[in-house]
Amino acid sequence: MARIQAIRGMNDVLPEQTPVWQFLEERLRTLVHRYGYREMRFPIVEQTQLFKRSIGEVTDIVEKEMYSFSDRNGDELSLRPEGTAVCVRAAEQHGLLYNQQQRLWYRGPMFRYERPQKGRYRQFHQFGVEAFGMTGPDVDAELILMTHRLWRMLGLDGHVRLELNNIGTSSDRTAYGRALVEYLRPYREQLDEDSRRRLDSNPLRILDSKAPGTQEILRDAPVLDDFLSEETVAHYGELKALLDGAGIAFVENPRLVRGLDYYNNAVFEWVTDSLGAQGTVCAGGRYDTLVEQLGGRATPATGFAIGLERLVLMLENADVVPEDMKRAVDVYVVVQQGQEAMAMQLAERLRERRAGLRVLTHCGGGKVPAQVKRAFNSGARLVLIIEESGASELQLKVRALDDSLSDVSVAESALDPVLARL
Ligand code: ATP
Ligand code: MG
Repeated sequence: MARIQAIRGMNDVLPEQTPVWQFLEERLRTLVHRYGYREMRFPIVEQTQLFKRSIGEVTDIVEKEMYSFSDRNGDELSLRPEGTAVCVRAAEQHGLLYNQQQRLWYRGPMFRYERPQKGRYRQFHQFGVEAFGMTGPDVDAELILMTHRLWRMLGLDGHVRLELNNIGTSSDRTAYGRALVEYLRPYREQLDEDSRRRLDSNPLRILDSKAPGTQEILRDAPVLDDFLSEETVAHYGELKALLDGAGIAFVENPRLVRGLDYYNNAVFEWVTDSLGAQGTVCAGGRYDTLVEQLGGRATPATGFAIGLERLVLMLENADVVPEDMKRAVDVYVVVQQGQEAMAMQLAERLRERRAGLRVLTHCGGGKVPAQVKRAFNSGARLVLIIEESGASELQLKVRALDDSLSDVSVAESALDPVLARL
């Protein structure tokens, strides 16, 4: 029978790869807790309507990337393609937003039917942060400072750069969109196919086109800058001043428009050159109208999401995960015939003795050299072999598998200095 394989674009993460994920997840959790953010958990499946109303009907995500289906009851559901809309739905549903400030974070799988390639998958993971009830720009600067600190915590500073833009209010963009369409209409036939379609549905997304012909035409197009309301210009200016004051470098990218309709005002991305076309590792900005759009009271909001797979690729390249985190075993206990119970109890005492010590007890018998070989393959640093068990305590032979120590014989009670070397 043919073997069943994973779905294209949905990855298994094997034990060799999990340490870098754990490293990243641990640093992320530490980071957000240092800024007073609290975790939210919400479902993977939501009503399709939630995403249509938030991300927008004519965005790539909703038009062609969602995994949507009707359940047995006939309800229209979708696997979540992103977390912001779900976070808003959940926070609003449980009364977390009315007249309050909230600093929240979440993490988990997202689903988009895209063409799988390096850094782009159909099931991928995001770490997201959302702040509600604050008009900014102080809180926007906080989010950027937080991500800036993250790159340092991960050893990736210098590998990413910050891009900023002010995309104005939704009515600024409508006015600009009209001007853009007017300018582009005579060039309609020269535009790439996606852009031609967007001319009628979502003209601002044309700015994002990768087609050289379209980019050429765009060179003399009207710019959003000339359509921005004073209020967003002031906000954006203050944000830049806060970043300057904090010593955070950025480049302004007028082409940065974001692919989701709910964004407004200041938006940002952290971009790397090391991942080819999939260069955005973190993306965010303000979305001050989304809560109201989803049925709540108007609530200012801002946030960002990090694509974890892309960061994992960067971390693998930079090889920054400490050796200690890559190893699953510190001590390997060899078990000779007749010693099974004794060895198991020894291992338990070792785990009692030192919190965090990773002890693997050999199972399944076999000769000592064969067990030592397994110990070597397990990555353990020390092997313990019970030499003598008659006396009041065990006498152990300790072998260091990294040659840092020649074989020594020690009583169990005298193991501390040896274990302290780990
Ligand atoms: P891109 O321009 O790369 O398609 P996006 O604008 O669609 O990204 P967002 O919806 O803003 O992405 O999601 C935030 C982050 O999630 C992205 O910056 C990226 O790091 C990550 N991401 C988005 N889509 C995918 C995917 N299909 N596979 C892996 N990571 C993804
Ligand atoms: Mg995308």
